[in-house]
Amino acid sequence: MSFVDKTIKCSDCGTDFTFSASEQEAFSQRGYTNDPKRCTACRAARKPQGSSFSGGNGGGANRQMFPVVCAECGKQTEVPFEPRGGRPVYCRDCYGKRPESQRR
Ligand SMILES: [Zn+2]
Ligand SMILES: [Zn+2]
Repeated sequence: MSFVDKTIKCSDCGTDFTFSASEQEAFSQRGYTNDPKRCTACRAARKPQGSSFSGGNGGGANRQMFPVVCAECGKQTEVPFEPRGGRPVYCRDCYGKRPESQRR
């Protein structure tokens, strides 16, 4: 089975777009028998937001944690921000023990 590039008019924006041989091959491998009706841009615009590059897990609640060593007790801990600028980072315990005036 061989494929050749096809030109199709997008049903959304009316632009002629190329349904390339390699795309046709991919389509047929996935079991699609119909040609696409929309250009790549319109198809992308119709996809659910972020599905292609967010990893698919739309939880949104998981913050990135950064491993640090507490400047006070030397314990390994994690903080929800990126430590930078050489500022000391404390574990939860030591941070809580610090005098009010030295907290940030
Ligand atoms: Zn279009
Ligand atoms: Zn500590």
